Amino acid sequence: MTKDEWNRALQGRFDHPDAAWELALMQDQFKELRLEVDRLDRRDREQAKELDVAYAAVRALRALLVEKGVVEAETLSSRVDEALDDLRPPAPLPPPSAGGSPYRDAPIVQVVQLTRCIDCKQELPTSETNVVADGNLCDACFARR
Ligand SMILES: [Zn+2]
Repeated sequence: MTKDEWNRALQGRFDHPDAAWELALMQDQFKELRLEVDRLDRRDREQAKELDVAYAAVRALRALLVEKGVVEAETLSSRVDEALDDLRPPAPLPPPSAGGSPYRDAPIVQVVQLTRCIDCKQELPTSETNVVADGNLCDACFARR
C-alpha cells in the first residue's frame, strides 16, 4: 500500500459516520480526562502548600510552648506520641483456630512498629521515639536538639 493509498484509506475510515462519531466521543472523553488530571494536580499542589503551612505552625507553636515554659519538650513529645497512637488502626483479630476460643488459643503476636530516627537514621520501635515537627527522633538525637 502506498502512502497515498494509506492516507485515503485512513481518511475514509474517519469519514465513515460511525467512526467519526466514535472519534469525536473519544476526543471529548480525552479532554475531560485532561481537565480531571489538571484539577487533581492543582489540588495536590494546594494540599502540599497547606501541609507546609500546618508544619510551620506546629513548629512555631511547639517552640513557643517550650520557650514560655508552658510545657517541657519531653512532655510535649510524649503527648504527640499518644495522639499518634490514637490515630493508628487497632490490630486485626487473630484468625479463629480449630476448636476452642479464638482468643484463648490464638498465638500471642507482638507487633512492634519500627521507624527511623530522622537525624541518625537508626531504626527503633516507634514507641521509643520522640516525635518532633519534622519526624521521629531517638532519645540521643532528641537530647542533642
Ligand atoms: Zn537518632
